[in-house]
Amino acid sequence: MDYRKKLIVKPGAKIRLKDIDPAWHGKHETEAEAAQDLAENVAKLTHLQYLLYAEKKHALLIVVQGIDAAGKDGTCWHVITAMNPQGTTVTGFKQPTEEDLAHDFLWRVHPHVPGLGQVAVFNRSHYEDVLVVRVHNLVPESEWSKRYKEINQFEKLLARKGTTILKFFLYISAGEQLERFRQRLDDPNRQWKISESDYKERAYWNDYLKAYEAMLEQCSTEYAPWYVIPSNHKWFRNLAVSQIIAATLEELKMKLPPPTVDLAQIRKAYHAAAKDPAESKSKARG
Ligand code: AMP
Ligand code: MG
Repeated sequence: MDYRKKLIVKPGAKIRLKDIDPAWHGKHETEAEAAQDLAENVAKLTHLQYLLYAEKKHALLIVVQGIDAAGKDGTCWHVITAMNPQGTTVTGFKQPTEEDLAHDFLWRVHPHVPGLGQVAVFNRSHYEDVLVVRVHNLVPESEWSKRYKEINQFEKLLARKGTTILKFFLYISAGEQLERFRQRLDDPNRQWKISESDYKERAYWNDYLKAYEAMLEQCSTEYAPWYVIPSNHKWFRNLAVSQIIAATLEELKMKLPPPTVDLAQIRKAYHAAAKDPAESKSKARG
């Protein structure tokens, strides 16, 4: 099943996250039922990244956003493990440094965009500058309100260079977030992930929803669409994200480049070189 139609944010459309079910899981009922489709998507991603890397005509930028515990790390991990590390990067965007803040908000982002043949995954991104920054008034509204347009222009520039841009908003319910926080508290393997800000940020849930809606409405474009991924079920999140990436890359109709050398010549040289060197030496000596 192609989840693109169902999950895309149509450019210019209004969106109300309250009308979207974060526990939606498409046509499969269980993780086990989805396993084969997921494996097929992963195999497709492996092949398509190989083509992208070889052909060097396209670049792929994947942006992952979502509230704390929405599954950003897990999604980046899942996508990238389908691909050859040579040719991929993952960049996480944390609190900006003093140097970052001395520049425009896109300055720290631009060096990490993918070149032709490359895949780049952003775990958080330039969108933090209209999310956490907006929710906490880190800059005045007169500043952050201009950024939506600036982001669109930036992404258009990347698209013009041959970058396919896919943006995934991982949407979980407040209840699911609480359950994941509880797991982090109880599971020694996850305790390191807990940060104090997680709980503090939860108090701003509705402000974040408003900021996400504004981001989705103003920055979903033909050349860089947003998808809202119902993410209460991790297996569905992985299924939908991998399917959307694979289907989008398939439409690029990428091909392996033709060899850059004359194969007939190289074959001749190969056969000559393949002879036993000891034999030809003794012959030369007579
Ligand atoms: P994590 O992704 O959980 O390691 O946390 C990174 C933290 O950096 C989050 O609390 C983000 O909100 C914060 N962050 C990322 N980008 C920005 C930004 N541009 N301005 C302020 N905080 C940011
Ligand atoms: Mg966090």
